[in-house]
Amino acid sequence: MNVNTVIYRNFRNIEEARLTFTPGVNILWGNNAQGKTNALEGIYCFACGKSFRGVRDRELLRFGAESGGLELSFTDARREQHLSLQLFQSKSRQMKKNGVPVRKSSDFVGTFHGVLFCPEHLSMIKGAPQLRRAFLDAAISQLRPAYLAALTDYAAVLKQRNALLKNEEQDERVRMPLYEVLTSQMAELNTRIVLTRMKYIRLLDTSVSGFLEDMTGGRERASLAYQSDAQPELYGEAGAEISRAFYEKCMSYAHREFAAQTTLHGCHRDDILISLDGREARLYASQGQDRSIALAMKLGEGELSRAATGEYPVFLFDDVLSELDTGRQQYLMQRLGGRQVIMTSCNESLFSGMDVNMIHVDEGCYEMACPVLHPGQGQEEQEAAVE
Ligand code: ATP
Ligand code: MG
Repeated sequence: MNVNTVIYRNFRNIEEARLTFTPGVNILWGNNAQGKTNALEGIYCFACGKSFRGVRDRELLRFGAESGGLELSFTDARREQHLSLQLFQSKSRQMKKNGVPVRKSSDFVGTFHGVLFCPEHLSMIKGAPQLRRAFLDAAISQLRPAYLAALTDYAAVLKQRNALLKNEEQDERVRMPLYEVLTSQMAELNTRIVLTRMKYIRLLDTSVSGFLEDMTGGRERASLAYQSDAQPELYGEAGAEISRAFYEKCMSYAHREFAAQTTLHGCHRDDILISLDGREARLYASQGQDRSIALAMKLGEGELSRAATGEYPVFLFDDVLSELDTGRQQYLMQRLGGRQVIMTSCNESLFSGMDVNMIHVDEGCYEMACPVLHPGQGQEEQEAAVE
């Protein structure tokens, strides 16, 4: 899968820009605060349906703009496709897939696939469980729209449930039956999410251990396991049994939840248990080992995407190369050969002598080092483009 062009209009600090990418390695380079990450953020919005910086649509609009948007044209194994996302200050977003309006994010996501690697991911092993859950959710949502729909529904039930738990004024005759209904809905959604995450982790585990062994010459071994409140290990893949057991567990802890005024159990609290040579990596891994595992997880995410879709996703790397030592930098670049990579960096010299498409970023304006030539373009057109 390759991004061909992206058009930005009133997106973050970009008033208007049209970026063209080559199928290999593309580098957005420039000083701090120029619009490198903003450009990447725009592309990743098509992979995940939202900004990876966790902001609302309105905050993506250029300061003072009433509307703006993004257009992506990319080629997958079958054809060229177009996605567009229009954003407004005072109304909901509009999404289009090949010119056809799409209403739900879960119908929009899953067409374009991207693996994002940003500095926060480098602390994924030691950081809060939320980072690891976000990794899983972003990776799986792109492959399974039904998973994204279940996550959205789960978040809505959780919000309602938490509001109910806080509302002490409510009549007990209404409160308890509503609590039971919401718990039952949550148990069913929770099971679907947990089973999907578990399946993904099992596949990722194999891929990550392979990459880590390769990266360290077999010196380090990692393993990944899904840690859940729902205890799926007791019931295997039996969804109905997991749901029932989870429902009963929640109901038996109801008094605690009413006292805490919040939902204490569920996949919003689950985690990935990462071990390095049999020990919990969160507690024992060095900073370098930490980074190696994060790198292996991102490469693994790319492999799983390829296994599910038949082709590699686009790799979007925000300023991570300079965070890695030379050995890991070389390993990464070598492993990414033959795939499209769009990277940001402040350091142009990291890429000197390499066959990459350099795009200079300066205050929301983008300048290619030389025009991008596509294999399909005719000789005359190519010569004209160079002139
Ligand atoms: P760094 O190397 O420090 O990571 P960068 O080039 O990646 O820098 P960006 O994160 O892309 O920088 O941000 C560029 C600029 O965009 C910043 O100065 C930021 O304040 C500005 N910016 C962010 N959101 C908006 C917005 N909604 N409207 C206008 N400008 C914005
Ligand atoms: Mg940046």
